[in-house]
Amino acid sequence: MNTSNKNWLTDHFGTQVAFGESMSRHTTFGIGGPADALLTVRTDQQLRALVRWAQDKGLPLMILGAGSNLLVRDGGIRGLVLKLANGFESMRQGSEPSPNGWVGITAGAGVLVRKLGKYALDHGLAGLNFALGIPGTVGGALRMNAGAWGSCIADTTSSVAILNQHGDIVTMGKERLHFSYRGLHLEEGGIILRAEFLVERSDRDGLRQEALDMQRKRRLTQPLSLPSAGSMFRNPSADVSAGELIDKAGLKGFCQGGAEVSTKHANFIVNKGDAKASDVLALMAQVQDIVFDRFAVQLEPEVMIIGQEAGSQELL
Ligand SMILES: Cc1cc2nc3c(=O)[nH]c(=O)nc-3n(C[C@H](O)[C@H](O)[C@H](O)COP(=O)(O)OP(=O)(O)OC[C@H]3O[C@@H](n4cnc5c(N)ncnc54)[C@H](O)[C@@H]3O)c2cc1C
Repeated sequence: MNTSNKNWLTDHFGTQVAFGESMSRHTTFGIGGPADALLTVRTDQQLRALVRWAQDKGLPLMILGAGSNLLVRDGGIRGLVLKLANGFESMRQGSEPSPNGWVGITAGAGVLVRKLGKYALDHGLAGLNFALGIPGTVGGALRMNAGAWGSCIADTTSSVAILNQHGDIVTMGKERLHFSYRGLHLEEGGIILRAEFLVERSDRDGLRQEALDMQRKRRLTQPLSLPSAGSMFRNPSADVSAGELIDKAGLKGFCQGGAEVSTKHANFIVNKGDAKASDVLALMAQVQDIVFDRFAVQLEPEVMIIGQEAGSQELL
């Protein structure tokens, strides 16, 4: 990034911009090379101005949630990485519950989904318990249509406010949102600002028991004490899980450098401490090859792989 762009960002963001920031500090994998500039953005207005400026300067831009579904390559990210904070971290309940017991909760894109799930649980509202164990933000959960135990974020989403690439804020009702398995179609450059979720009043004790069961299952089946990005591969179909195929292929415990196919859950790759993105990518390729040879199934990554190969750290 040239000095004049750096100066503009420093003038406008002060301590809220970091240059050459290692993405390993911002991903749950603990892996990733440096971002040219990582910025914390606090309001719609600030975000809109920044997007306009970046377009003007031809600088690429991406939104970082909690970094829990990302594998950032070792060469890092060219351009701007934006984290949504403050104004994007608020949550409120609609004042008028509908007569049939449905309640709206509006949450900013930067709110952690487990906080949203906890809020609903504490207020005896059903439909978001599944989110309690997911370490992402509302923005990331919508983008990925995150889900667990047969539920997903699309089920309760009633509308999403999006900043489009022309600088307009558009609120899209459910009927205009195209969710798919672990995905939401966003127009190029679309940034999720906040969303409303419709949840139903329910029995609080029943909800608590359900939440405890989900937590217990997660702790028993997932390697939560080691850094990871959750499931690495999408399930090939509703009946066949990626983890099952990887397990059957005997790949639990397979290693490349510091990356290992978890011995607890075959669809997790864990960072044993010093893994590079190149280790994870080599291990993923090995898993894909062996599973394909054994079962003629091509596993597709669920984790988003972004950034540059090592050796291409040339700053914009
Ligand atoms: C231990 C563990 C367990 C997990 N369990 C589950 C699970 O049960 N179910 C599940 O579905 N996932 C799970 N995950 C994966 C991950 O938590 C989810 O995919 C989560 O929704 C990602 O959210 P995030 O905020 O971390 O997004 P990030 O990983 O930061 O980003 C993911 C994508 O979303 C985009 N994005 C983020 N915010 C915005 C925004 N405001 N506007 C536009 N785009 C945006 C990013 O640019 C990126 O493309 C797990 C991960 C871990 C580490």
